Amino acid sequence: MTNASLPSYLSRENVGPWETYLDQVERVAPHLDKPLIPWIETLRRPKRSLIVDVPIKLDSGEVAHFEGYRVHHNLSRGPGKGGIRFHPAVTLSEVMALAAWMTVKNAVVQVPYGGAKGGIRVDPKSLSLAELERLTRRYTSEINILLGPDRDIPAPDVNTNEQVMAWIMDTYSMNQGRTATGVVTGKPLSLGGSLGRRDATGRGVFVTAREAARRLNLPIEGARIAVQGFGNVGEAAARIFAEHGAKVVALQDDTGALHSGGGIDVARARTHRELTGGLKGCAGAEALSAAEFWRVPCDFLIPAAVENQITEANAGAIHAKIVVEGANGPTTPAADLILRERGVMVVPDVLANAGGVTVSYFEWVQDISSFFWSEAEINQRLDRIMTEAFNGIWEVSQARALSLRTAAFVVGCSRVLEARALRGLYP
Ligand code: NAD
Repeated sequence: MTNASLPSYLSRENVGPWETYLDQVERVAPHLDKPLIPWIETLRRPKRSLIVDVPIKLDSGEVAHFEGYRVHHNLSRGPGKGGIRFHPAVTLSEVMALAAWMTVKNAVVQVPYGGAKGGIRVDPKSLSLAELERLTRRYTSEINILLGPDRDIPAPDVNTNEQVMAWIMDTYSMNQGRTATGVVTGKPLSLGGSLGRRDATGRGVFVTAREAARRLNLPIEGARIAVQGFGNVGEAAARIFAEHGAKVVALQDDTGALHSGGGIDVARARTHRELTGGLKGCAGAEALSAAEFWRVPCDFLIPAAVENQITEANAGAIHAKIVVEGANGPTTPAADLILRERGVMVVPDVLANAGGVTVSYFEWVQDISSFFWSEAEINQRLDRIMTEAFNGIWEVSQARALSLRTAAFVVGCSRVLEARALRGLYP
């Protein structure tokens, strides 16, 4: 397939994440079982989208207004599940796409959830800690009509963390008049959080990369890794690869990019980020431009930042054997085709970064049963679920000559539509 086979609006570089998702649904449609086809329209529409005004008092005494969203894309398989993002570029259509990818992802790893996502259009770095707390609590109150341990369970995403989850849990609990730990995951351990949750997405990226590498006879020991995004997902993925003998040759975040042919010391980069707020200026590696980062020869390239990073402009220059999508939607449809034509294997987001929601599921189960597991038990179960999910998708891709992305959509969307068809239409 060539670029010419893309709809014209998808050939543009500024294609939005919702259009990317719709294109993925179009590609899966011909491969679904016939009885599921009549239900496919449900995948093209979010079940409900809530837009909220979030007014807060700034430390200066002034009042500022922010726009927030919570979208339930599809609840056929269970309550809504998906993270909350604080970022100046958040829009309703971005949150719709992120919620839809959660629908597919939850089905791919067979956790009993539907797809949801939320966000606030804000630059959290411009707020004090007290302002951030007021923003989180007011947003939680505004979307409270959707939340609940058996209705909708948020989690962290870009620029949100354990502290933000603690405020959400407390605000919901105060409104309920009881402590409800199961309303949110990615919480601190002392509030019903789970061992292993912090690293879970990065660990899942590693497990799916390991399984993909096995198919190409590519050893992890000595493999060269490049990671874009050095936050929750990217830092953990880089560290876990390094623990398994791989060499992290390039890192990039929103402050700058680093390169070292001999391998970047991930712990040193993390300390530098903690002290300065980013990777820029980290000693022991040379600085790279954003464009140069994509050209670094590597075995595994892990985009773990935001959407639309691998585009028509840089896909042709990528020298990686396997791209493992830690981020959601990092590759545009046009770039996806270029990578496929060039023989670069892509482990898609709905599979590669599903480790986070898998351990979020473990956290929710532990909260509900008030019985907590060891870290070794969590990591083992995570490894098993991710490996089985990879194997199932690999078999479909081989049997039907599909990309791993389309195969993952075939597996995930079939499970969602089967649930939808069995439930039928109300009334
Ligand atoms: P985070 O806020 O912890 O880290 C984001 C990182 O990306 C930071 O290092 C930031 O500097 C960098 N970044 C942002 N914009 C960038 C840009 N334009 N260029 C280069 N670097 C940029 O976020 P996170 O939780 O690690 O999430 C990263 C991605 O992984 C997102 O797409 C998110 O949806 C996805 N994801 C996260 C989880 C999770 O458990 N946190 C689970 C599944 C998927």
